[in-house]
Amino acid sequence: MIEKGETQDARISFHALKSLLRTIFVNNGTVAETADILAENCAACERDGALSHGIFRMPGYVDSLKSGWVDGLAVPETTRLGPSFIRIDARNGFAQRALAVADPLIRNAVRETGIAIAAIRNSHHFSALWPDVEPLALSGYMAITVVNGLANVVPHGGRQAVYGTNPIAFAVPVENAPPLVVDQATSVMANGEVRLHALADKPVPDGTGIDREGNPTNDPHAILAGGALNTFGGYKGSSIALFVEILAGAITGGQFSFENDFTGFPGAQTPKAGQLLIVIDPNWGGSTNFESRLARLCTQLVDAGQDRLPGARRFTNRVAAKQSGIPIAQDKLQRLRTLAGEAP
Ligand code: NDP
Repeated sequence: MIEKGETQDARISFHALKSLLRTIFVNNGTVAETADILAENCAACERDGALSHGIFRMPGYVDSLKSGWVDGLAVPETTRLGPSFIRIDARNGFAQRALAVADPLIRNAVRETGIAIAAIRNSHHFSALWPDVEPLALSGYMAITVVNGLANVVPHGGRQAVYGTNPIAFAVPVENAPPLVVDQATSVMANGEVRLHALADKPVPDGTGIDREGNPTNDPHAILAGGALNTFGGYKGSSIALFVEILAGAITGGQFSFENDFTGFPGAQTPKAGQLLIVIDPNWGGSTNFESRLARLCTQLVDAGQDRLPGARRFTNRVAAKQSGIPIAQDKLQRLRTLAGEAP
């Protein structure tokens, strides 16, 4: 949806955008509860400037739903196996709905035992991870999550994609401040960013990925057309991608990124993956003043010269959007209205 020369020449409220997106999800075979959750998630990404997972993703959601690859009607099945361990079968539906259904179980477990682990399988995660962890930090917990995906990342030194872009996110509460939220792919660049570069015909930096012959390339089109991304940080980052692959694709009983197979589902884009969420109550760890300690750590980082804290850009965008609406290009807005079946 992002094309060259587009400008953000319109504004839309969060509520109006969410409502438009909800209509698109419902019209394309998503049950109301799931449509609510996905619309809120996608509108929040757009509002926060997490553009690789905002409205840019809507055609991908729609095409995946239409293809039958993902089930918009799926009702997740949750089981609390023990005091702290929750197992969730998303039943080929979206991970965000699975997490929402499991949320009371997760919160009970962390309240009662100091820790909750939620293992989701048969799930499709097509968004940013911060919406999964930020609300838990707002409740005073540390939340950590990982997701695997579609094989489009080579292991260090490899020539064939094995990993997904395997993101990892964590969030913690900070005294008198928004939570500290880190959310990043373990590839050099998130796949959505590569696609945005391709749409803008903009080269990617050195070291981002390889073409289909395994040669280094700066061409985002070559990375997307049979090439692959590199992991961040050489062999060390490659091992973090491996760590995510094991947690999200194996501990959960889900499938590995390289086991995704779209054959027979033309248009499918959402990765059928797994997700692991770990929630910790810091009060159980012996820290009686966790949030003020975190505030001290953040101050130390800024005083040391870090230009900004992770998550700060999104919070700034969020405040601006609350004041003056979410910036959006008029033609993109029109395309969303068309997708929603609204008359021009
Ligand atoms: P970025 O590299 O843009 O950002 C990674 C993290 O670093 C963010 O928390 C960001 O905060 C922070 N950050 C960025 N610049 C700075 C800086 N100068 N100083 C301090 N902190 C900074 O993210 P990626 O491109 O790696 O990932 C983008 C998104 O893609 C993520 O939300 C991820 O979850 C999602 N993704 C989803 C996948 C899926 O399968 N569903 C697969 C892969 C990625 P801020 O947000 O404030 O900029």
